[in-house]
Amino acid sequence: MNLFEARRLTVTLLHRHGLDAWKVEFSRAKTRAGACRHERRAIVLSAPLVTVMSEAEVVETVLHEVAHAMVGAQHAHDEVWRRTAQRIGATGRVSLHTSASPAHDWVGTCPRGHEAQRHRRPAHPMSCGECARRFDVTALVAWRYKGRDVPMTPAYRAEEAALLARTSA
Ligand SMILES: [Zn+2]
Ligand SMILES: [Zn+2]
Repeated sequence: MNLFEARRLTVTLLHRHGLDAWKVEFSRAKTRAGACRHERRAIVLSAPLVTVMSEAEVVETVLHEVAHAMVGAQHAHDEVWRRTAQRIGATGRVSLHTSASPAHDWVGTCPRGHEAQRHRRPAHPMSCGECARRFDVTALVAWRYKGRDVPMTPAYRAEEAALLARTSA
């Protein structure tokens, strides 16, 4: 879909759901088709991915992010977000399986709702790159595997426990 049409589509969907104060931005992201920036009220679409996506894929991406905008960052991908996403016409799935972006099995979410994606199981705890430039235990990313909560490895959990203990000490 071309970027002009993608922008127009997004503006239309924002308007339909009462989000007239929000704007559309484009990024150069290579793995993530869409993002919701609550702090500056922007839906951010990946220019390179949108360009090679079908209209249906762009609609799904935009509705996913519009649902984030409607429910607020604190809901991340919880049930409130999922029900809203489905009510406005998205699938409510977390990772988009598009021809353009190979699905990442591991999707992480920071406390403020930013997403990180990995193809392999994360070996070490990490903090959100958007919330903190350097490692910050208050911005720890929580991982899900194929949309499900799964236990991390004992080594990962030990490392995480040590990090948390060090901060509270
Ligand atoms: Zn999302
Ligand atoms: Zn974050």
